[in-house]
Amino acid sequence: MTTEKFEYKNWWKGASAEEKDAAFQFCSGYLSFLNRHKTEREVVAYTEALCQANGFTDLNEAIQQGERLQPGTKVYQNLRGKAFVMAVIGTEPIEKGINIVASHVDSPRLDFKQTPFYEDTDMVLAKTHYYGGIKKYQWVCIPLALHGVVVLKSGEIVHINIGENDSDPSFVITDLLPHLAHEQMNKKMSEAVHGEGLNVVLGAIPLAEEKEEAEEKSKENHKDPVKMNLLKILKETYGVDEADFVSAEIEVVPAMPAKEVGFDRSMIGGYGQDDRVCAYGAIQALLGLTEQPARTVMVYLSDKEEVGSMGNTGAQSAGLTHCIAELCALTAPVYSDLVTKRCFANSALLSADVSAAVDPNYKDAQDKLNATYFTKGVVLEKYTGSKGKSGANDANPEFIAALRAIYDEHQVAWQTGELGKVDLGGGGTIAQFMANLGMQVIDCGVPVLSMHSPFELTCKADIYNAYLAYRAFLKAYK
Ligand code: MN
Ligand code: MN
Repeated sequence: MTTEKFEYKNWWKGASAEEKDAAFQFCSGYLSFLNRHKTEREVVAYTEALCQANGFTDLNEAIQQGERLQPGTKVYQNLRGKAFVMAVIGTEPIEKGINIVASHVDSPRLDFKQTPFYEDTDMVLAKTHYYGGIKKYQWVCIPLALHGVVVLKSGEIVHINIGENDSDPSFVITDLLPHLAHEQMNKKMSEAVHGEGLNVVLGAIPLAEEKEEAEEKSKENHKDPVKMNLLKILKETYGVDEADFVSAEIEVVPAMPAKEVGFDRSMIGGYGQDDRVCAYGAIQALLGLTEQPARTVMVYLSDKEEVGSMGNTGAQSAGLTHCIAELCALTAPVYSDLVTKRCFANSALLSADVSAAVDPNYKDAQDKLNATYFTKGVVLEKYTGSKGKSGANDANPEFIAALRAIYDEHQVAWQTGELGKVDLGGGGTIAQFMANLGMQVIDCGVPVLSMHSPFELTCKADIYNAYLAYRAFLKAYK
């Protein structure tokens, strides 16, 4: 009897020229997606348009008309513009379960506060509150862009997207020069830049006043002429007033474009790859299915993962479960709550979220036997959590075995790993919330370096194999 030593291989080594080409081609699509859609709202709008162009119809219309959904029907549901579900109805009864790939489309960033604008030292700035886990010092002295919406009292939504085009201005958060930073440099990294110090510079020209007009201006306006000039520009450009920012979501994101990285162009650097790298692969995998699936297949894009998945667009909300109940009602011969519950119990879900790769500069953070590496493919992460698997979805080995079989059969490069050394830190994904519904769930995503930074790094081999993994799972999991 013989047995073999087991190790994960570098995908490039075994890949054919065609496979490498396919990976590069897939990643060129991914690169342009990364550069065009930086926020949850933008990814949802992109996906909705893509669905409409690919024969998907709005589930809400089917609900309204009580229209039965036949096998092969492609539907989507936009959840408040920030989360999204797309599905293809299978030939099997829906209570036999759904194959779901779920990613989140929010990323760490800085959000404008509700009263953002103030003038100081003849400049106008915006107050922000950071969103998600960031290292604050990484967000100063880099070009920033503003993306988001301002909702007027009339309900009209004004879209803002400035800082991305070559002709657009940039925005920035300043930092203290080294000459005067002796005190700052002796602080802990976590305290060197304060949350209340993440103020974005927006302008420095005061409002030009006609002489006679100036007499009539209120003292308030005299006090903040640079802020007044900004408000004038905002009114002229977007038709919005200062008060309208109370009902706004303006996200401050890095303005640097995503790029290929390395002489061999084997990697992708860019903002927000956690988790748009998995979301893109998931969307493409579902769109690329050409055959009628037996089980219903679905992609779920969630919001608010970076702050704990709460809220009515987060994975802890009823958004996904409600959508699945609607699908059950429109496909099952007789609907009851039990149909939905059986559907959950029989469903399987890949929590398609990124994992931390071993960083050659910080190898000590990982247990090298149980770490994930660039080039070795998509990561099956049995559990996340921290300090004794606390807060983890600990995937069932029965499910992992089934996935191993599918991935090997479909020639998907995959590896396992966990998030750093025991007791060093930890983190979570939406996996635990999905598993609470009774589904089989495991984290399965792309390894990332410099995660949550303004310029995260991924490897094309892994990006491509994540896509192959999602496609194989949607198609073949029974
Ligand atoms: Mn993530
Ligand atoms: Mn994250």
